[in-house]
Amino acid sequence: MLKYNDHATMNRWDNENFVHPWEGMEAIGHNERTFVEGGEGVYVVTEKGDRLIDGPGGMWCVQIGYGRDDMADAMADQARQMAYFSPFNNAHSTAARLAREIAARTPGDLNHVFFTTGGSTAVDSALRFIQFRNNLLGHPEKKIVISRHKAYHGSTYLAASVSGKERDRLWLDKAEGLAHFLPDVNPLHRDEGTSMEDFLDQKVQDLEQAILHLGAEKVAAFIAEPILASGGVIVPPPGYHKRCLEICRRHDVLYISDEVVTGFGRLGHWFASEEVFGITPDIITCAKGMTSGYVPMGGCIISDRLIDEVSGAAAQGATFSNGFTYSGHPVSAAAALKNIEIIESEGILDHVREVTPLFQERLHALSELDIVADTRGMGLMGCVECKMGDKTSLENDYQLGTIIDAHCQKNGLILRPIINMCVFSPPLIITKTQINQMFDILQDGVRAAMEAPAK
Ligand code: PMP
Repeated sequence: MLKYNDHATMNRWDNENFVHPWEGMEAIGHNERTFVEGGEGVYVVTEKGDRLIDGPGGMWCVQIGYGRDDMADAMADQARQMAYFSPFNNAHSTAARLAREIAARTPGDLNHVFFTTGGSTAVDSALRFIQFRNNLLGHPEKKIVISRHKAYHGSTYLAASVSGKERDRLWLDKAEGLAHFLPDVNPLHRDEGTSMEDFLDQKVQDLEQAILHLGAEKVAAFIAEPILASGGVIVPPPGYHKRCLEICRRHDVLYISDEVVTGFGRLGHWFASEEVFGITPDIITCAKGMTSGYVPMGGCIISDRLIDEVSGAAAQGATFSNGFTYSGHPVSAAAALKNIEIIESEGILDHVREVTPLFQERLHALSELDIVADTRGMGLMGCVECKMGDKTSLENDYQLGTIIDAHCQKNGLILRPIINMCVFSPPLIITKTQINQMFDILQDGVRAAMEAPAK
């Protein structure tokens, strides 16, 4: 087995052999990335031994923090006892227990968990389930999925096809005729003089008009993240999801709430759909915080109503031919069960609600800085958007987030830059002191980027 010994070697192997997600082809082969080799609580530890507060919580997922022995033990115990067996014809008690625990925490009648390997496969399975249901019920023409500009739902073919970030659609194909995209729901971009109430009316009308225009008999579902996460933490106007659900119900369109980011505590509740936004959707997709990122796992949670429709006498011998070797993987299920136990026994949901006001206050205070165009967020999610295009001193605006990140990393904070934005979703256990440290460093990082933009 090869062993690394120095940064140059690791970096070379990484460049020559590891194709990263969203790999930029211009830089392939000569990237210089930070190697993160350890973690403890809200901190990650780099190869140089630097301890950095983890601003994005891995990738919106490390809810309970890094380096927990109880998580490692739960996974190791399960691996020793029974690491894996096929979920196709057999069952496993750890996965059955997990499905039960999740069903006990979901809104309304969402009681059926289809386990997947991550968020993209959760969304894919939700979309395939809806296709299956409509075919079975004799509506094969009811297939269009309404999504939104800037939405991100994953990287498998179907999930990517309903994702609405334009830059991500430039070089790859999508499933033709599957998706229809509604315009921007970001209140920041509303026309001058338009009130939040009027903007809400417009956005809800966008959905209804799209359904009427496409024909309700052709529209299968509406998919929405409660807060558009990778699109830049876009919080729709208050009341948006509730009114969209009413419209969906009126036109027999199913509502998929993509809680891959917001599920498992990010907004201070197990799921945000009901407790934060007041809706009981037909399907919830989840992943990420489900295991706090310790191992991959996702889920597509389906309502009793939908399962009743496609089972029993209605099933006509049909099979939902969709599934994964690792659906309900015992080690992942053991991690997810332990994660739920920790979040509950340590009062982490209450903690998120308690520290949220400080997090949001410190986030919004950044808007005083010259180059900050907008700050927005909810719960322990936040985004700082910087101005683009009108600051000639900045070497390359598209790199603005990366430049801020480089400054922050020198001072103890790692960020997730997206073009001219930095998004935040720290581990949910972050203390008030650490929140203050995080925003102090960020403030200095933004100032430094204003003064010395080049890396
Ligand atoms: N849905 C949402 C809302 C997401 O943010 C993501 C990942 N960022 C996904 C789906 C896809 O999840 P995964 O990367 O685990 O496949």
